[in-house]
Amino acid sequence: MRIELQNFTKRFGDTTVIEDMSLSVASGEMIALLGPSGCGKSTTLFAISGIHRIDGGTLHFGDRDVTRLPPQDRPVGVVFQNYALYPHMSVAENIGFPLRVQKLKPAEIKSRVGEMAELVQIGNLLKRKPQQLSGGQQQRVALARALVRKPDVLLLDEPLANLDAKLRLEMRSEIRRLQRETGITAILVTHDQIEAMSMCDRIALMKDGRIEQISTPAEMYERPASRYVAGFLGNPP
Ligand code: ADP
Ligand code: MG
Repeated sequence: MRIELQNFTKRFGDTTVIEDMSLSVASGEMIALLGPSGCGKSTTLFAISGIHRIDGGTLHFGDRDVTRLPPQDRPVGVVFQNYALYPHMSVAENIGFPLRVQKLKPAEIKSRVGEMAELVQIGNLLKRKPQQLSGGQQQRVALARALVRKPDVLLLDEPLANLDAKLRLEMRSEIRRLQRETGITAILVTHDQIEAMSMCDRIALMKDGRIEQISTPAEMYERPASRYVAGFLGNPP
């Protein structure tokens, strides 16, 4: 599903944090929003998921204008940095929760949860509680829960930030595999350029609430559009 964000503006009180930003993501593409802390990556992701109201601009998924659609009606799955799993629920209940909200029949929930658990390779962990899982396993549960409604769009906010170095490497390729296998359109928010370069088709490098350069990783590395880009990549001209 194509994502088209046009002239997006977001204010908190008197402070404008995003001004007139436009971004299109092709169907099936995985794009990174990359940039330093505070540049507006999460704010952009929250606008696309509908968690934040936007102050200006429009958002389309395919031909559909979703600008005013509440988050639960958007075909979007979100994975947060801290995973936000429900501690009192089992893995199966966590994954199935979005379907319970939708009031699907228990048998159907069970079969979809099973399918998702296979997809992220945690079929043997369904009865456990989140605190009985490793960081990587919790991450897989969060991914399964984000995908269980079969959304058209997957939004990932610093999903690997809480993992140790080895797991981070493993989950980089795991998330990319899932994205390719499902053909979902994905946006990855990260401040880690290696993560962005290794996982995404294109990178939007942000600075102070706008996009400084958007291109493939190779192009950005070979032809940084400004000193800022070159500096960020640690490759000054
Ligand atoms: P990033 O994810 O790139 O680190 P954010 O999108 O979280 O950055 O934040 C962008 C800017 O908006 C920052 O200056 C931040 O302080 C501000 N901001 C984010 N959320 C709020 C909020 N709820 N209220 C006020 N300011 C906010
Ligand atoms: Mg953030």
